[in-house]
Order: sequence, then C-alpha cells, then structure tokens
Amino acid sequence: MKALEQKILTDGIVLSDTILKVDTFLNHQMDPLLMKQIGEEFAARFQHKEITKVLTIESSGIAPAIMAALQLEVPMIFARKRKSLTLQDGLLTSNVYSFTKQEETEISVAKKFLTEDDHILIIDDFLANGQAALGLLHIVEQAGATAAGIGIVIEKAFQDGGERLRERGIQVESLARIESLQDGKVQFVKETRR
Ligand code: 5GP
Repeated sequence: MKALEQKILTDGIVLSDTILKVDTFLNHQMDPLLMKQIGEEFAARFQHKEITKVLTIESSGIAPAIMAALQLEVPMIFARKRKSLTLQDGLLTSNVYSFTKQEETEISVAKKFLTEDDHILIIDDFLANGQAALGLLHIVEQAGATAAGIGIVIEKAFQDGGERLRERGIQVESLARIESLQDGKVQFVKETRR
C-alpha cells in the first residue's frame, strides 16, 4: 500500500536492525485518515471471505482492526492482556511472548464473543516472529471458529512470522512488507502491492 510505505519512509524511525518505531501514526499518535485507508485496504483484500468478526490484540491492533471492521460491517473484538474484575470466567486464553517487551503475557477473550459459525479476520499492527498472531489463532481454534485470514499493517519479512503463518495455509495480507532495516534504512520487499 503506497500511502503506508510513504508514511513509513517519512515518519518511521529505525531503532535497530530489527525494530521500527512508528509512534507518529500507528503506535502512539495515530493518523485517522491513514487508518481509514488501511481499513479499506484490508476490507478489499478479504472481501471474498465472508468475515463475521475481526479479532485483534490490545492496544496497537485496535485502530486498524476497528477500521477494517467498520468497512466490513462486522463487530471487532480485542484480546485483553490484563485480567479485569469484569473479565474472569468463560475465557479463552493463550500465552504470547512479546518481541518488543521480551516477556510472556496471557491474552484472553470472553468465550461468548466467538462461536463455531464465525469466520474470523485477525488483524495486528506488526508481524515479527508471529507470536501475537499465533496466540490469536490459538484462541480462534479453541472457540471452534474458522480463521479466515490475517491482516498485518507492517510485516518485517526478514523475520519468520510470515512464513510460519503462511505455511498453515492461511491467507496473510501485509500492507507493507519490509525486507531490511539495515544501516538505518527501510527497504521494502519489491512485490508489495499498490
Ligand atoms: P510477533 O508477535 O510477530 O513476534 O511481534 C508482533 C508484535 O510485536 C506486534 O503486536 C507489535 O506490537 C510488536 N512489534 C514487533 N516488532 C515491532 C517493531 O519493529 N516495531 C514496533 N513498534 N512493534 C513491533
């Protein structure tokens, strides 16, 4: 997605060979116009999949997920990282190792929001080693629902998450695919669409 790649080039900060900071439009301050375009692009790429719900993980997945859900006209659910007093029983849970925080977190979704009839679109902001997406897939599986696809805003294609997810036969769509962050520069994978 050209507008996203352009934004990454102008606003992204390469923190190291493996970490990109995008806090001016995605991870802290958010750009609503770009988020709207991101939602439209996800909806277009998964239009044929009869999505019934969008599932993401708090907090940075929420904005792209709600925009995709708005376009697809379906509910959006975000997995919570902390247990709250109002979220205790009837939970589907999974353990996720965070690439950026370097710690394991238990994520949970209330059972009542996912059914066997659901076709779920999983959305996240970044794809690195695939831990967050695999944790969400695990929750979808526990519900007996169908994982209809995975939409990622920024995939770091030099890490193995994309391969792990695609080898399961799931449609994975990344709106920007980064080939390298070496020498402080962002290089995109050539085949990135639009
Ligand atoms: P994974 O679970 O695929 O290993 O990592 C994806 C998760 O880690 C995303 O939900 C995102 O929050 C975070 N993450 C991974 N790599 C980056 C990065 O380069 N920059 C930022 N801002 N977040 C990242």
